[in-house]
Amino acid sequence: MPLLVQKYGGTSVGSPERIHHVAERIVRTRRAGTDLIVVVSAMADTTDDLLELAKQVSDRSHPRELDMLLTAGERISMALVAMAVNDRGQEAVSFTGSQSGIVTDTSHTRAKILEVKADRIREELKRGRVVIVAGFQGVSREREVTTLGRGGSDTSAVALAAALGAEECEIYTDVDGVYTADPRIVPGARKLAALTYDEMLELASLGARVLHNRSVEIARRFRVPIHVRSSFNWNEGSRIRKGDSMEQVVIRGIAHDPDVAKIALLGVPDRPGVAAEIFREVGGQGVNVRMIVQANSSDGKNDVTFAVGSHEVKSVLPVVEEVRKRLGARAFVYDPDVALISVVGEGLATSPGTAGEVFAALAKAGVNIESISTSSITITCIVRKVDVERAVRSLHDALRLEQEN
Ligand code: ADP
Ligand code: ASP
Ligand code: MG
Repeated sequence: MPLLVQKYGGTSVGSPERIHHVAERIVRTRRAGTDLIVVVSAMADTTDDLLELAKQVSDRSHPRELDMLLTAGERISMALVAMAVNDRGQEAVSFTGSQSGIVTDTSHTRAKILEVKADRIREELKRGRVVIVAGFQGVSREREVTTLGRGGSDTSAVALAAALGAEECEIYTDVDGVYTADPRIVPGARKLAALTYDEMLELASLGARVLHNRSVEIARRFRVPIHVRSSFNWNEGSRIRKGDSMEQVVIRGIAHDPDVAKIALLGVPDRPGVAAEIFREVGGQGVNVRMIVQANSSDGKNDVTFAVGSHEVKSVLPVVEEVRKRLGARAFVYDPDVALISVVGEGLATSPGTAGEVFAALAKAGVNIESISTSSITITCIVRKVDVERAVRSLHDALRLEQEN
């Protein structure tokens, strides 16, 4: 039998009614003649609530215990979904990440998957059962429970699909697919029928949280087709797959990310090895640097500006101060009130006029651009956080993304 992996997000399993609805869908899919692994997120706001609870008990950092706490969220939903599926006469069994054989490194709260030893899942599938897996979690080789980072259930699902050779990984969420921009911010955003892995990876990495960026990376590496769709209807969603057969468009979509902060090291000596030293130290904290801009000034000193996720600032700032002292840089500034806005499209590389159009649209909307960085398929700007939603809407309009282009 072919194998399918389905992942249901927090809203999709957010209440007993929705769990019943998801169970119906699971049973219907299974009965259509396919083996089925279902990955679930924690119900609705459970993860946020658990994080808040931890904050109320302790203001210190307890990564191991935090992972213990957060994995409880997905345990609740997996058990409830399994009950609802069993009640419909279809055998189902729920597994934690550890029981599913999802082996990770030991970086608590942002663990990476090292391998999937899915023997137990295979056995249960052979027995005809649907296997319900708790997303977002795994176990390290030291047998510690870990989590994969916010939004990580997508990554659990794609990793299982890759490891078990599933035909497809369906990501069920609360919107109908991947849009040209966040449909909650841009009402005229258009659903995309298909995107390439590269485009989706950039959109996800630059803030489109509809897919966890690491899930797209795994899908690209193992060629797992992804179908992002709504759990509330049977509409076709968006297909993420290899790019060959698709028409080229200049811009596929816009991503924005308000959860970032800007750090700038000012007056850094202009000599070889400086950037290496800064980013080795920052990277050593496990921090993913989002954008790097180095401005050359004339007096033998440079300014180095970069963006990191807001939640990573706490671990980065002490390191930056240490590097500043060591390098003899004049000062560093930290600005939490910024956001990233990015346009993504595989045609950007061959469309030299588009950058000008993007900047003109932002200027027309009165949005000041603080830094710019580009790659062959992205243009990313740092803007004020208060401006970012307006900037997304203006850009979407100016680039006419509501129309098929
Ligand atoms: P889930 O709990 O199902 O994983 P998420 O909240 O993580 O759901 O992701 C879905 C949300 O992603 C949508 O509700 C939407 O607001 C947001 N989003 C951001 N950018 C996009 C985009 N380009 N297309 C679709 N959704 C997007
Ligand atoms: N429950 C986790 C979160 O809220 C993982 C996920 O939903 O993908 O981040
Ligand atoms: Mg998500």
